[in-house]
Amino acid sequence: MMKDSFGRLLRNLRLSVTDRCNLRCEYCMPEDDYVWLPREDLLRVDEISALVDVFLMLGVDKIRLTGGEPLLRSDLSPLVTTLAAKPRLRDLALTTNGVLLAEHVDALHAAGLHRITVSLDTLRRDRFIALTRVDRLDAVLEGVAAAHRVYGRLKIDTVVIRGVNDDELADLIEFGRGVNGEVRFIEYMDVGGASRWSPDRVVSRREMLDALSQRYGSIETLIEPESTAPANRFALQDGTVFGIISSTTSPFCRTCDRSRLTADGMWYLCLYAMQGIDLARPLRRGAAPTELMTLIAGAWSARDDRGAEMRRALGDRRAFVPIENLLWRDPHLEMHTRGG
Ligand code: SAM
Repeated sequence: MMKDSFGRLLRNLRLSVTDRCNLRCEYCMPEDDYVWLPREDLLRVDEISALVDVFLMLGVDKIRLTGGEPLLRSDLSPLVTTLAAKPRLRDLALTTNGVLLAEHVDALHAAGLHRITVSLDTLRRDRFIALTRVDRLDAVLEGVAAAHRVYGRLKIDTVVIRGVNDDELADLIEFGRGVNGEVRFIEYMDVGGASRWSPDRVVSRREMLDALSQRYGSIETLIEPESTAPANRFALQDGTVFGIISSTTSPFCRTCDRSRLTADGMWYLCLYAMQGIDLARPLRRGAAPTELMTLIAGAWSARDDRGAEMRRALGDRRAFVPIENLLWRDPHLEMHTRGG
């Protein structure tokens, strides 16, 4: 098992399979125009598989497919089949906006995908359109229903933004109950694409809990000492469980075992890292697995990132990457490239 300089294990790989998205969420892709990764740079299924094999050898046992919108990738099911066949992989999950889920969920299940998380920020059509700039809430709800039918359960991720959807927390929990969906509320983060982020738009974990306890009464904090999951989990009095991912006000860098591989093979050790490690170039020039292992192991053992904690420590905190200087020049700095 690989440990970094703080003793954090290399276990959790978020695999972005495309930087394209069919939504334009205002907290992630608010701009009118984007610089995209060149198509010829995107890793093929066999190349992803080869890199994943190296990560698995080094201790990774959980993979989450993300993007961009992963369902835009036409060979997603074959990729899932390839990854699901790897014995060292214990958990293979997908994060999707749900728009195309209803038509793909049977194939993904048959291919061996273990779990699905759907991102859903509002249940109101007018808000959905304002937030995503696309009128597809019905398709997302169909996707959620399809995931419930096929998997029996799912997770629902909601980015909470003040004045946008912070009055829908209970509605989302109620909706989740109906589809056996555990809702996880995510604090609005000042990551790459969030060029309109400002501190006053963040609804903190404390505020979310206060709002929910006004509606539901006392809320129990579930103690999960071994967990490295980003969400703290809570239970309502009737046993309904929900999570809060408080990366902005209470970062979990101390236990972060996540790293991210972009669709063109750049590996990032932190969501806030400015530099990645190019794994595509050595792979494409025919590097042996042992060479890739040495590269990955060396980078992980030197890892000392605490990106979210360092962001929190800043006095005058604004959007992480200024759009005019950097985001337009380097798509790798975007959340939709790096994978959320
Ligand atoms: N398209 C897929 C989806 O919608 O789930 C996967 C990619 S998306 C970048 C992954 C997650 O990142 C989504 O749940 C999204 O809400 C979250 N996300 C994007 N920008 C964020 C931000 N500024 N703060 C918090 N979460 C964010």
